[in-house]
Amino acid sequence: MTDRLYYHDSFLYNFDAEVRSVVETPRPGLILDRTAFYPTSGGQVHDTGWLVSPDARLRVAEVADTEDGHVVHYLDAPLKDVQPGTRVRGEIDAARRRDHMQQHSAQHVLSSAFVRLFGMPTVSFHMADDYCSIDLDTPSLTKDQVESVERRANEIMIEDRPVDVRYVTRDEAEKLGLRKLPPAERDQLRLIDIRDWDLTACGGTHVSSTGQIGGILLRKTEKVRRGYRVEFVAGQRAVSTARRDFSTLTETAALFSAGIYDVPQQARKSLDEIKSLRKQREQSQDELAAAQAATLLAETPENHGRKLVVRTFSDRDLTFLKLLAQKLTRQSPAIALLATESPQPALVFAQSAGQPYDMGTLLKETMAKLGGRGGGSRDLAQGGVPRSEGIAAALAAVAQKLTV
Ligand SMILES: [Zn+2]
Repeated sequence: MTDRLYYHDSFLYNFDAEVRSVVETPRPGLILDRTAFYPTSGGQVHDTGWLVSPDARLRVAEVADTEDGHVVHYLDAPLKDVQPGTRVRGEIDAARRRDHMQQHSAQHVLSSAFVRLFGMPTVSFHMADDYCSIDLDTPSLTKDQVESVERRANEIMIEDRPVDVRYVTRDEAEKLGLRKLPPAERDQLRLIDIRDWDLTACGGTHVSSTGQIGGILLRKTEKVRRGYRVEFVAGQRAVSTARRDFSTLTETAALFSAGIYDVPQQARKSLDEIKSLRKQREQSQDELAAAQAATLLAETPENHGRKLVVRTFSDRDLTFLKLLAQKLTRQSPAIALLATESPQPALVFAQSAGQPYDMGTLLKETMAKLGGRGGGSRDLAQGGVPRSEGIAAALAAVAQKLTV
């Protein structure tokens, strides 16, 4: 089994080791006799860094546990000149490790706060590149509860409580009242002890006092299958997230020429305006369609007891065409063959109820000629075409067919 140096010292970023074996698949990797590299486990993501031999400097891209208790350091390049027995120096990406310690210790502080304040146990912990999350076993979670936990967690951080690592037997652990006891497997348990705040079994790397967490910010909460997921960021992540939030808000506020705290009010006002303008536009379109239908009907002579209106517009949308077609055919017997060239070339065919043709079929035939797609019922059909060329001629051809 690999001797895990990080169990005893989270701040050990450089170490010497000996290569025990070389892994070729699924990609090149090394197993050492001892390592300070943390493998992905318990919600915490693996370290990255370098393994330096006398002849090579190898980038450690991923670190993973094996089933038999070893730690594999996966490398991002093929191995040369390294074999069992080679001495290597390990160099861990310290900034990444520190960030992971801040996130993981923040998780312990938060999980305990959720239990102590509201009796909500944490069922899982997830660490991603930009944020972390815990899942709480609870049927409900309010904004006030989230804010209380955030305040309490930051107080624990400001109090700079010691974070100690302890080893106990399983029997001892059962008497200590841990927040979380892992399933019975090992005789000895590693405990992370945040003084008078949280005691839990964990194999992760942690800060040595809560002040090093540097800040805890709770973010999105969402309902998940077993309860609620709470996203959070700690340390520099909290600072960079707050910075990004501020930039986004500032940019948005500038669009409204307002202060950042007035953005919701301004946005609501704008949405209300859009809603009312949309309503006004609908009304104007309706009035315009009615007036236009009246004009078109007035200037079209009646033939065989009905009026045939054929018209191509240069700039009307499909909604207006349909509206106009309905107005044209609603009252007296009429057939409307309408088209628009832009913004989106489209056709609408309509007839008054009781007229003998089939608009759906006529439109489909026309679409086939123009290379478009569409359809509809016997009395109303619509479709779009890729180009405006040929639309007028196609309408004329249909009109011709109807007047014969
Ligand atoms: Zn943990």
